[in-house]
Amino acid sequence: MTTTALLRAFLLISQLALAVSCAQSQQQSEDFARASLEHIRVLAADSLQGRETGTPGNRMAMEYIEQEFRAAGLAPVDSGYRHAFTVDTDEATVHGANLIGLIRGTKYPDRAIVITAHYDHVGVRDGQIYNGADDNASGVAGLLAAAHWFHRHAPATTLIFAALDAEEKGLLGATALLKHPPVPLEQIRLNINLDMISRSSKKELYAAGTAHYPWLKPLLTSVARPDSLRLLFGHDTPEHGAQHDWTLASDHGVFHQHGIPFIYFGVEDHEDYHKPSDDFSKTDRVFFIDAVHFITRAIAKLDAHIAGDPVPQR
Ligand SMILES: [Zn+2]
Repeated sequence: MTTTALLRAFLLISQLALAVSCAQSQQQSEDFARASLEHIRVLAADSLQGRETGTPGNRMAMEYIEQEFRAAGLAPVDSGYRHAFTVDTDEATVHGANLIGLIRGTKYPDRAIVITAHYDHVGVRDGQIYNGADDNASGVAGLLAAAHWFHRHAPATTLIFAALDAEEKGLLGATALLKHPPVPLEQIRLNINLDMISRSSKKELYAAGTAHYPWLKPLLTSVARPDSLRLLFGHDTPEHGAQHDWTLASDHGVFHQHGIPFIYFGVEDHEDYHKPSDDFSKTDRVFFIDAVHFITRAIAKLDAHIAGDPVPQR
């Protein structure tokens, strides 16, 4: 074999190896997405009684998520994953707890992306359990799938995974998180919030926020996605009426109020939204797996972008 032939053979082998490893990492992201269906089933079970903040069912959800954080190798912040907070609202004193774990960036540990999903729901009303499978056991399941994937594919920037409490009581967990952030606020480059991602009869996943932060749109459209998943933008301006503007509708709103860019992944309201019928059995498995697989790749794309971006984009 000549030197050139050797070199060609070497190049061919390394290209093959790269193709195999890309296929493997794609496969894994999909595998984690599929496995995370189980998290929806567990978190939306009747035994958790709708996960209302401050209830035993909410605490059971907390313990389950902590166990998954450990399994995904997330590093705790300060003494542990659990960060309690107390807020006096007009109705009551709310005792909640956010669960926070992180994976330090290999290249830029002082640049952070915060991935959020609220794990609380509205509990039991008139004897009926509101299981909140889509809202928002699904988002937490997606967050856990991403945590497991990045545990095996180290990010360049720091990824903070925050399962937030008391969203349903007025974004109280997100407010507490930014009051005592796990890293200095100026290090937080982006929030990616997942809230309701497990069903859409029209197969539509929204990425809201690009009207405020247009630099995010081309990055998201460049991420490969299955033909069966439609990625839509919008729901981030008041042009179709205030109720269609989701800018402040979930935890990402608090990041936005702090001047931190956000992307909110979610679906439009459906017939089981905030009803006792928001059950695991209504999960669209293919849509959920497609959505989580896509979101995981989107996070990887945004991580790479922020790694190459010394000045924060706001
Ligand atoms: Zn929600």
